[in-house]
Amino acid sequence: RKLAEQLGVSRNTIVRAYSELEAEGFIVSRMGSGRYVEALHPAPSHAQTHWGKQASGKLAAAPSHMAELLSVTDTYPNTINFAHGDGGKHTLESSCFSDYVKSTAEQLHSYYFTSVQGLPELRERLVAWMDMEPISSPEQVVITSGSQEGLYLITSLLARPGDLVVTEMPTYFGSLQLFQSLGVQIIPVPMDANGMRIDVLEGILARYRPRFLYTVPTYHNPTGWTMSLDRRKKLLALSERYQLPIVEDDAYRHLHLDAEPPPSLKSMDRTGNVIYLNTFSKLLFPGLRVGWVAANRSFARLLTRMKELSITTNTLGQLALAAYLRDDALRPHLQEVRKQYAEQAAIMAGHLDRFRPLGIRYERPAGGFYFWVSLPEEINPRQLMTECLQQGVSFTCGDMFLLREAEQPYIRLCFTHERTDQIDRGMKIIDHVLQSRKEL
Ligand code: PMP
Repeated sequence: RKLAEQLGVSRNTIVRAYSELEAEGFIVSRMGSGRYVEALHPAPSHAQTHWGKQASGKLAAAPSHMAELLSVTDTYPNTINFAHGDGGKHTLESSCFSDYVKSTAEQLHSYYFTSVQGLPELRERLVAWMDMEPISSPEQVVITSGSQEGLYLITSLLARPGDLVVTEMPTYFGSLQLFQSLGVQIIPVPMDANGMRIDVLEGILARYRPRFLYTVPTYHNPTGWTMSLDRRKKLLALSERYQLPIVEDDAYRHLHLDAEPPPSLKSMDRTGNVIYLNTFSKLLFPGLRVGWVAANRSFARLLTRMKELSITTNTLGQLALAAYLRDDALRPHLQEVRKQYAEQAAIMAGHLDRFRPLGIRYERPAGGFYFWVSLPEEINPRQLMTECLQQGVSFTCGDMFLLREAEQPYIRLCFTHERTDQIDRGMKIIDHVLQSRKEL
């Protein structure tokens, strides 16, 4: 009461302020003796503070999908790899990108850092590459250390722990891991071959107030499905009605096996609600760690302030990419890899067709990197994975892409990492493992 009088505010305001400080972990209450400033405790290590405990608790509780997946090649270096979602060594070699890295490295002496927002020439070239009306200026583009950092920055800006975020289910495990680690609650929306079920989404938006919606509308990871044009229009209308920001992760757009996909949500965005996310990880290789966010100017400015906390994205990669785009080398490279990937997908599909009598089902995707394969109930994907790993083949289990285990077990097979001969060998090994299980 005394404090309220001193400050000239109501007692309720003081009580509320105390509760908020306590919830944030800045102060602690001790029964019968009052409240204390937590940060003034004798030399607490960061992890020992209340905030630290909360944050590390969420981190510890969140799944460690990324580390698990990346460790596959360390633990089983000679495995035939259907687990990693990348274009593999052969496509990187045919891209000639390493020539650009070499010549860029030779001219590097005068460079220190590029700007926080990213190399101006690269941003300019990306505006031309994206070719979308709502993105007309390099000021709307922020270069990030892969799209994962882009999603991290966006989530940190738009949502706080406990807030709600909507996403397709299943979805890319990197986004799930990120949301869960940041304490953001996920509202899953089911999907079908036409993408996210917008009819279900509408009911969710009417009941909840999510901070944003995250979607991979084109050649979705892991299902390979693509949102129809009609649903894209409906989603944008809902976003307008509910003032809902949409984060569009478009990592696979240029990797179609057949015809080109429907236009991106961002290219159809009339309100500025869509935040566009993309990466060179699938176009070239993920170790490059260069992605980008394209949004309206004010959000791009905000994102740049946030990006400044990690200074900038690696200069060498950005310079090499700017030169690659300047020479228009990405377009022919993609034409070539699309042909290769279609061939690789056909080999894998041929084998999967032969698994049908075992109750194994899949749909051929129109693009992207993956077959999302459903197994009969009696096959446990983790067990199958262990057995296949022992025989020299790796893949990803479906539960990584879900919040809880699905009744229908799935595995994800990536058809882009290995060459056709290795795909053939790997699928024969999976066949052998499946056949020997049947005999048990
Ligand atoms: N988004 C999606 C949908 C992905 O599948 C992946 C890679 N598996 C990423 C983002 C990761 O991109 P980056 O390497 O740029 O962080």
